[in-house]
Amino acid sequence: MTDVTPSTPSSRVRLRGALDAVPAYVAGKPAAAQAGVTAYKISSNENPYPPLPSVLDVVREQAGQMNRYPDMGVAALTAKLAERLGVPAARIATGPGSVGVLGQIITAFCDPGDEVIFAWRSFEAYPILVALAGATAVQVPLTSEARHDLDAMAEAITERTKVILVCTPNNPTGPSVRAEELEAFLDRVPDDVMVVLDEAYLEFVTSEEAPDALAIHRDRPNVAVLRTFSKAYGLAGLRVGYAVAHEPVAEALRKTAIPFGVNSLAQAAAIASLEAFDELDIRVKELVAERSRVVAALEKQGWEIPDTDANFVWFGVGERTAEFAAACQAAGLTVRPYGTDGARATIAEREANDRLLEVAEAFTRS
Ligand SMILES: *Cc1c(COP(=O)(O)O)cnc(C)c1O
Repeated sequence: MTDVTPSTPSSRVRLRGALDAVPAYVAGKPAAAQAGVTAYKISSNENPYPPLPSVLDVVREQAGQMNRYPDMGVAALTAKLAERLGVPAARIATGPGSVGVLGQIITAFCDPGDEVIFAWRSFEAYPILVALAGATAVQVPLTSEARHDLDAMAEAITERTKVILVCTPNNPTGPSVRAEELEAFLDRVPDDVMVVLDEAYLEFVTSEEAPDALAIHRDRPNVAVLRTFSKAYGLAGLRVGYAVAHEPVAEALRKTAIPFGVNSLAQAAAIASLEAFDELDIRVKELVAERSRVVAALEKQGWEIPDTDANFVWFGVGERTAEFAAACQAAGLTVRPYGTDGARATIAEREANDRLLEVAEAFTRS
């Protein structure tokens, strides 16, 4: 008999040192089950509506061919997007979620030591993708109104700046950048620095001052627009997003894509969702109406909520962040806490929103 106790030799493989700088992604936790209380996960900005029957049918049908590879060129979806957006297909690059596309962007632009500027706090995937490339994250604090400080971001540009990420509306705080300030900012950015406008929440935007990113990209070859099917379109679990960029950039993003990264169910569902957009838009409008109702109620309770153009609200509770998240959790709501900055809560089912208002009100009195 051989000894079954494994003696583990110590590992001598040489991992990249850059990994030491990669922060771990904190994923939204599933809502905790409690007796008699419906739990809601309002920590990941997901669409609370189930898939449209028409989209689900297409996915079911496509699933019958999942022994086959997807179309590596994502041709049908790309053609559909080109038609809807009024841009040449050559300007579109797809990927497994817009996080996937952003990874393609960073890979296409950044060597170790290159700098990527973004606001902070902003989307948690940014520092991860930048660190993975061995590039340097240059984080520019938000203003006191939880907005991008575009002047400070322009001042942070150096010889080593390759990419600037502008998250509009900003996750996790909510405000869009204003069209006028964005144009002034872009005028200051050297034309060999790539600017990515991350519009993950575009469909929820109602601010009249918000920029028309697609129009801006037309005149500026160093501007790309990043979009996703995960939020308004409700396809977060299928992973598909895209960038619109001038040809040399879009072509580079197709080169840096993981081959077959956009699976066949995602491709089919995205096309079906574009075709069903009017139906999906009714849901988006309902969520936007809920957002207005929630924000108005919170303001009445005395909260100062940053302007939000997205499907979430930001509670700038600072040192009391953990306490706030725990109070939500005790009521069956899983929100997303961010250290000692604050917490983000997704606008979700009406019942979840009502409960959030109850917890928020009790919190103001505690
Ligand atoms: C949710 C989100 C995305 C989208 O991620 P996917 O990979 O497309 O699911 C991109 N950017 C921001 C700012 C987001 O909040």
